[in-house]
Order: sequence, then structure tokens, then C-alpha cells
Amino acid sequence: METLPCHGCKGLCCGPVPVTEKELKKIQKKIKTMPRKVRVELENQPRLFGTCIFYDINQDRCGIHSVRPEVCQAFGYYQDLVCFRKPELATKEKLIFKERPIGHLSIDFTWKNF
Ligand code: SF4
Ligand code: SF4
Repeated sequence: METLPCHGCKGLCCGPVPVTEKELKKIQKKIKTMPRKVRVELENQPRLFGTCIFYDINQDRCGIHSVRPEVCQAFGYYQDLVCFRKPELATKEKLIFKERPIGHLSIDFTWKNF
């Protein structure tokens, strides 16, 4: 599958994302098993208002990539989740959530929840 040209975007499309209960639990587990130094460094990075609390600005990538929510994995490939840098990759129809989201990361769930 052709991939998105994310390098250099610096989290441009990483805002508050919907998260399901299962996804939240997975993220909590991941954060808990992170070396303390890594967690503290990620937690305290300066981010622009609205940027996802897990975006790793120093490494220009998702700080929880292996457990990122479904919507993040789907971004760029669905007609309701179009990447403006490569809109031609959004060939799939609307993303249907398998489970109902319980809130948004960065709004309903912030670092104090992890
Ligand atoms: S999905 Fe698109 S806007 Fe988002 S980081 Fe990747 S290339 Fe940039
Ligand atoms: S969880 Fe990761 S991929 Fe999803 S919005 Fe946050 S930083 Fe971006």
C-alpha cells in the first residue's frame, strides 16, 4: 500500500482523536510500561494548542505508535479522513467504528489519566 508523506508534517493532522475503551486501556498499559525518562520527556514537550498530547515533536512521529487509535491508523485512507498532502490515497468509504468511542484524547483524557 502506498504510504503518506508524513515526515516533516510535525503532527499537522494530530489533533484530539476519538478513542474507544479498549484503545484507552491499551494506551494506559503502554504508558505505564514506558521507561520513566521517556514518559516524562514526552509528557513535557511543548506542543501547539490542539496538538495531540502523544505527538512526539522531537522525533516527528506518534509517541504511542504501536497502540494508536483506529482513527489514526485509518487517517488518509478514508473519504472522511483525507490527508490534504495526498488526497488520492483516500479511496475507502467512511470509517465505521467497530466500537463506540468514549471520548477524545487530549480533551477528555489528558496526561493525568495515564
Ligand atoms: S497524514 Fe498527511 S497531514 Fe498527516 S502527517 Fe501524514 S502527510 Fe502530514
Ligand atoms: S495518537 Fe498518535 S497518531 Fe493519533 S493523533 Fe495522537 S500522536 Fe497522532
